[in-house]
Amino acid sequence: MGETRHTKLLIIGSGPAGYTAAVYGARAMLEPVLIQGIQPGGQLTITTEVENWPGEIEIQGPDLMIRMEEHARAVGTEIIADHVSSLDLSARPFTAETDSGTTWTCDALILATGAQAKWLGLPSEEKFKGFGVSACATCDGFFYRGQEVVVVGGGNTAVEEALFLTNFASKVTLIHRRDSLRSEKILQDRLFRNPKVEIMWDHTIEEIIGSDTPPGVEAVRARHVHSGEVTEVPCKGFFVAIGHAPASELVKDQLETHMGGYVVTRPDSTETSIPGVFAAGDLTDHKYRQAVTSAGMGCMAALEAERFIAEQAVE
Ligand code: FAD
Ligand code: NAP
Repeated sequence: MGETRHTKLLIIGSGPAGYTAAVYGARAMLEPVLIQGIQPGGQLTITTEVENWPGEIEIQGPDLMIRMEEHARAVGTEIIADHVSSLDLSARPFTAETDSGTTWTCDALILATGAQAKWLGLPSEEKFKGFGVSACATCDGFFYRGQEVVVVGGGNTAVEEALFLTNFASKVTLIHRRDSLRSEKILQDRLFRNPKVEIMWDHTIEEIIGSDTPPGVEAVRARHVHSGEVTEVPCKGFFVAIGHAPASELVKDQLETHMGGYVVTRPDSTETSIPGVFAAGDLTDHKYRQAVTSAGMGCMAALEAERFIAEQAVE
């Protein structure tokens, strides 16, 4: 049997939301404990340049996350390299079981487990991730000024990404596996009107083609779903926009979720459907999915958790 430990504030997740919550929680003298999970530093550790974190014209994603970890630790957060395997939110204190066998109990809980982009699952996609293959146009679009790019997907994300990319790219080809988009009509209208956009209906992606030295994308091979005809579309950037999966497995039967698993929070708040449980970052955010917005929500969660803990002490 592992040990059981108690903390006033437990934070699950070590992305921008988790570390920011930790900084605020520690500075409020809550002595928070943060459990990092299997991806210490979160999604930004799998990217290179980050050019939209205020105060840094350019910083490598992994370096930014190391600095956030150092900051959280320096102000008094206990950072634990472990993964939460289950949560019990049915009674207070809340209970978290971890892979190492330690059981954590806490008075307030901040969930910051993030989300993961869905990928096509092609070996060539894996090979060129970070070298032309991306799942974030807001992050990487800037690198494709004056070049041709391809976006795959047919939802709001794909259409928004395609439209955003027209700000930089010379041409954006949207490839979709059906003959109609599922995105909002207003976005579709905007897309259809944009002279830089070409749409390839009824095509699936077979392979991303590129060079090894230096590594980089040169084209994608797409197959027509009915005729089987194969077309090579030249591009320097290939953006996968087929949806995101919020990491809400731990709480999906305990908290209210929507839109494919995003944790519901009250408007202008990080409060979830259970008092004392707060959610921040991509776990709750189907819309913005940015480091800075995640950090902002982490701050809000810590301030709300602090207030919650203080109110419980008075009762
Ligand atoms: P994440 O960063 O997703 O972190 C989630 C954390 O939760 C991880 O540490 C994980 O280990 C932990 N976790 C999950 N499950 C458990 C569990 N069961 N137990 C314990 N821990 C758990 N945004 C920008 O603003 N600018 C950019 O340039 C940019 N570039 C990007 C490039 C790429 C390739 C990707 C994928 C995303 C990029 N983003 C960028 C988006 C940005 O990374 C996310 O919006 C942000 O990281 C979300 O932060 P978060 O704290 O909510 O969660
Ligand atoms: P989504 O709505 O689930 O759409 C995913 C798209 O990718 C679909 O068109 C789907 O095709 C396609 N797709 C899925 N798997 C695929 C695969 N393996 N190969 C090829 N194509 C594949 O996801 P999303 O666009 O990320 O949106 C998620 C949620 O966030 C939605 O509720 C959306 O409304 C919301 N959102 C809102 C906004 C906004 O309000 N501005 C912006 C972004 C997202 P099919 O159509 O054939 O299924």
